[in-house]
Amino acid sequence: MALLQIAEPNMSAAPHQHRLAVGIDLGTTNSLVATVKSGAASCLADENGEMTLPSVVRYVGNENKIVGKKALSEQKLDPQNTISSAKRLIGRKLPEIDTAHMPYRFGKSEQIIELQTKNGLKTPIDVSADILRELRERAEQSLGGELVGAVITVPAYFDDAQRQATKDAARLAGLNVLRLLNEPTAAAIAYGLDNAAEGTFVVYDLGGGTFDVSVLQLSKGLFEVKATGGNSALGGDDFDHRLFCHIVENNQLSLTDERDVQLLFGLVRHAKEELSRQPEAHIVAELSSGKQINTLITRAEFHALTQHLVAKTIEPVKQALKDAGVAKSDIKGVIMVGGATRMLHVQQAVGAFFGQTPLNNLNPDQVVALGAAMQANVLAGNKNDGEWLLLDVTPLSLGLETYGGLAEKIIPRNSTLPTARAQEFTTFKDGQTAMTIHVVQGERELVADCRSLAKFTLRGIPPMVAGAARIRVTFQVDADGLLSVSAREQTTGVQAQVEVKPSYGLDDETITQMLRDSMSNAKDDAAARARAEAKVEAEGLISAIQAALTLDGDLLSADELNQINGLIARLIASLSAHTAEQIRALVQELSHATDDFAARRMDRNIQRALGGMRVEDL
Ligand code: ADP
Ligand code: MG
Repeated sequence: MALLQIAEPNMSAAPHQHRLAVGIDLGTTNSLVATVKSGAASCLADENGEMTLPSVVRYVGNENKIVGKKALSEQKLDPQNTISSAKRLIGRKLPEIDTAHMPYRFGKSEQIIELQTKNGLKTPIDVSADILRELRERAEQSLGGELVGAVITVPAYFDDAQRQATKDAARLAGLNVLRLLNEPTAAAIAYGLDNAAEGTFVVYDLGGGTFDVSVLQLSKGLFEVKATGGNSALGGDDFDHRLFCHIVENNQLSLTDERDVQLLFGLVRHAKEELSRQPEAHIVAELSSGKQINTLITRAEFHALTQHLVAKTIEPVKQALKDAGVAKSDIKGVIMVGGATRMLHVQQAVGAFFGQTPLNNLNPDQVVALGAAMQANVLAGNKNDGEWLLLDVTPLSLGLETYGGLAEKIIPRNSTLPTARAQEFTTFKDGQTAMTIHVVQGERELVADCRSLAKFTLRGIPPMVAGAARIRVTFQVDADGLLSVSAREQTTGVQAQVEVKPSYGLDDETITQMLRDSMSNAKDDAAARARAEAKVEAEGLISAIQAALTLDGDLLSADELNQINGLIARLIASLSAHTAEQIRALVQELSHATDDFAARRMDRNIQRALGGMRVEDL
C-alpha cells in the first residue's frame, strides 16, 4: 500500500525563515487556533486573553455580525439569527437533519442547507467561514504577519461532503488549507505519540454536544485510524441540562422569561465546570420575578445525577474496539479529549473500563488544536526532521453499481488512506458505446440499499460484441478522504472521471446504522445477490438467443422455434418471481434446448467463412 509522505523535501525552510502556520480546531461548541513558537505549540488568545472561541455567530443586519462569546451570550434573546453548532449542518442536506429542536428558519432548498438571517441566507459553510476568519485574524494579529496556511481538524467520521465543505469554509475565510487532519490523530500528535509510541491507542473525545471515540494504531510514526464510533447527540451540554432540570425541580421554578433560562443555563454550566476542580459549587441567582435561588450542589450529587450519561459513552467504546478487532487489554493508552472529559466521574469511568489511568496531562480543550499546529509547522516546512505519515481510513466501503443492481465494492471499509484501486469491467450488450458508472457507498449487496454518491457516463467506447471492451475503473481516495473515480476504455484510451463531492453527508449514527443493517441483512442480501446474478445470466442468454434468432432463425423448424420462444417466455416470467435456483434451472433448460441450434449456426458460419465450400470437401 502506498503511503503518503507529508513533508516535502523542497519545502524545508532556512531557520530564520519561519513560516507562519496554524492549527485550527473547528469545534461544534468551541474553536481554537494554535501555533508552534520556538519549538513549542500553544494556543493563541484574543485581546481579552480568551483562547476558546464559542462556535457561534450572530447576524445582526447590515452585513454586521458578532462571533464568539458575545454571540453565545445573546443566543437565547435572538435565536433565529444566532447560529451555533454549524458543524452539525456542514456538508449535509436538509432532509438528513433533525431540525425539530433548532430555532432557525431554514431556506427552501433541499440540496443545500440555508438559514434565513438578518444578513440574508447563510449556509453552514458561511457560518464556519465567519468563525475561521475570526481565528485567522486573531492569529495574524498575534503573530504579526500573513499565514502561509492552516491545518484544520475534522472528526474522523466526516465523509467527503463534510470534508469538502470544511475546506470550502476555510477558503472563504482566506485560509490556505495545508491539509485536513482527523481530530483523534491531532490529539495523538499533541501527546507526542508519533515519536516514541507503538501500539494501539484510544481517543475518547467528549465535547459540548458530541461524543467521538477512535481507535488509532501507531507504528514508527505512522498513524492509522482503525475504527471510529460515538454518539452525535451526547456531550457536556447534556450534563448542563440535567443539572438545570435538577435546579428547576428543587426550587419548584416555572420559568417563563427566556432571560431566566439563559441565566440559569450559564450558572449550571459554570457550576459543572467548578465541580471538576472543587468538591462543591453554589448556584446563586435572582430571577426576573424577584425569586432568589441559592442551591449548594456537591460533586457527589452531581455525579449521581449524571452517571447515566457517563455510562452511555461506554457502549460506543466497546463497539469501536470490536470494529477495530482489538481487545481492551491491547490498548496501550487512552487519550482524553474535549472539555467535558475534565469531569472526574468521566475520567473514573474510562479508567475503570480500560483498567488504566487515561492520558490527561494536556489541556483536553486544546489538545486537538495543539496537534494540528504541530502538523501545520511540519507542512509549512519549519521542521526538517519531522516526517509524519498520517493514515486514516474510509468509514464505509466505496464501490459501483454493476449490471443487475448489484454493488461491487472497490475500496473496502476501513481501508487506509490515501488509497487507489482499479478493477476492469466490460460491456454487457453488443455494440454498447456508453457505460454509466454509478458510485455508491455502503456495505450492502444491492445498490438500492447503499448510498448513491455520483453518476457519470463514459462515452465513445468503440462498438464491440458484449464482453469484449475492457474498461478500467479506478477509485482513488486522497489523504483528506476525497474520492475521485475515473473510467478508461483500454483499447482507445477514451476516459471520463468525477471528483466525488457529494452535496450531502452522513453522520456517525447513519454510518453505524448502515453497518448494522448490513450485518442483520447479510443472509437476505446474499440471497438477493444470488438472484440478481442469476437474473443477469438469464438476461444475457436471452439477448444472445434473440440476436441469433434474428440472424439465423430460418435454421429452425416452426416447432423448434416455438419451443425456444416458450422457454424464453417462461424464463422472463420467472425473473421477477423466482429464486436464484429456479432461474438457474430454467437457464439450463433454455441453454440445452438451443444447443442444436448453436451447432447449426456454427456450421453455417463456417460455410460462410469458407466461401461456399463444404467442410467435408476439405
Ligand atoms: P467541542 O469539541 O464540542 O467544540 P469542547 O471540547 O470545547 O467542545 O467541550 C465543551 C464542553 O466542555 C462544554 O460542555 C463545557 O461545559 C465542557 N467543559 C469545559 N471545561 C470543563 C470543566 N472544567 N469541567 C467540566 N466540563 C467542562
Ligand atoms: Mg472538539
